Amino acid sequence: MRVHLDRIGDEPFRWQEERQIEPSILDRPEVVHLGDVAWRGTITDTGAGHLLKGKLDYQQTLTCQRCLVDSPKPVSVELELLLLPERDEPTEGEFELEAEDLDVHYVTEGILDTEPLLFEQLLLNVPMRPLCREACAGLCPECGIDRNQESCDCLEPAVDPRWSALRDLRGLED
Ligand SMILES: [Zn+2]
Ligand SMILES: [Zn+2]
Repeated sequence: MRVHLDRIGDEPFRWQEERQIEPSILDRPEVVHLGDVAWRGTITDTGAGHLLKGKLDYQQTLTCQRCLVDSPKPVSVELELLLLPERDEPTEGEFELEAEDLDVHYVTEGILDTEPLLFEQLLLNVPMRPLCREACAGLCPECGIDRNQESCDCLEPAVDPRWSALRDLRGLED
């Protein structure tokens, strides 16, 4: 969606859309599915720039990086951005006051493209290492069973390598 900021008058510009987005666009293989993304917000002319307030609601299905099970999770996030015109040579400190508490997004030629903002938000909501839950026991490295479901008799590596290094130091190695 392209918004002409100079056409926004006293009334804020409002939008509301429902988007179907292919997870592959995020380039994160852990994201196997994205539900319909409800994306809405307002843009208000504050006199010293435009203020964008937006909200996203959707469901994302991520692959747990320990047990490899896909699980859906609801996401609900809000964003607030100050939109400022992009200048050829921004003067240092010029926007300090406005930028103090707000994220700033620079807009070229008075036209805001909301698409990159949307994709950026989707990406921000994918954890670095997605887990189905914090306590996920993962897969057994020996036999590959899901240790959340079953147990096995595979032996854990007997000695932590850090301990054997310590033993070496102390000369206790047999
Ligand atoms: Zn898991
Ligand atoms: Zn095992």
